[in-house]
Amino acid sequence: MERYYDYILSQNSRILAPNGIGTFVVNLLNEILEKQNKTERVTDFKSLLTMPFDELENLHDAINSDRSQDIMNNKVNSKKLNTFRNYYTRFFTKKIECPENEIKKNNISLIQDLGITVCPYCNRNYINSRDDSSGCEFDHYYDKQTYPFFALSLYNLIPSCSTCNRIKNSKSYDFCPFKVNSDEEVMFKVDLSSDSSKLQLYFGDKSQENNVLKLEDAYEIHEKDVAEMFRKETEYCKEYRDYLINLLGDRGNIGKEFSEEFFDYMIFGEIANDGFNDYLNYPLSKLKKDTYDYIVQLRAE
Ligand SMILES: [Zn+2]
Repeated sequence: MERYYDYILSQNSRILAPNGIGTFVVNLLNEILEKQNKTERVTDFKSLLTMPFDELENLHDAINSDRSQDIMNNKVNSKKLNTFRNYYTRFFTKKIECPENEIKKNNISLIQDLGITVCPYCNRNYINSRDDSSGCEFDHYYDKQTYPFFALSLYNLIPSCSTCNRIKNSKSYDFCPFKVNSDEEVMFKVDLSSDSSKLQLYFGDKSQENNVLKLEDAYEIHEKDVAEMFRKETEYCKEYRDYLINLLGDRGNIGKEFSEEFFDYMIFGEIANDGFNDYLNYPLSKLKKDTYDYIVQLRAE
């Protein structure tokens, strides 16, 4: 975060000057909040760039009105906001010097710092860069055309695969990866009533119209992955596991290791580990974890 802030400052030495663009953006945002009789205020440029998502969301809700848009669209303001908005394109993918004196592009370095390798929107595609130029795209959760104030705010920038970035574009979407933390909010449900394991994507109490990213279409081809998990569950049934535990348990102390958890980990992989939540590094892990939880639930019935 510090590095990102320092980087943005290094791109325009006058950004924080009294008539600098950073100062202008913060003042205008506060002016809009005041005119709307809102209590929220932005303390400074740094906080605008680095505030956590829930604060960003409050600000967004506070300025989300026609009146705010009118103020932003006034001739002088819109020109300056446009300059600020364009900083994203101008600065974001420029090369920077990283801690080990490596020269990398800012966007690539950010994704590496975040430790994320899989798209948070679809949980299907990898987002790592293949060389020093391609990959590592960011989506503006609040689109920068309508909300130029957040064009450079770190928590408004969602690392995403090209497909999700293109499909979402400037549309609004109810599920920000920085906010979705309940497993129940978005989940996969498997319908076993037909021969094949039918998949359904469940968006909590939000409407199906929230399928902005066409995830249902994307996941159609993954019914086979779910079917494979059920096939494994049938083949490595309880009797077979018990048989293996008995067989291998005779050899020294090894029996202790052949627990139910150990088998599940061997059969279903990482997602079967207790408390797994590394969704941003394992593609399809949300689908597999939800399916696995359902399998465990069925065992108990
Ligand atoms: Zn994606």
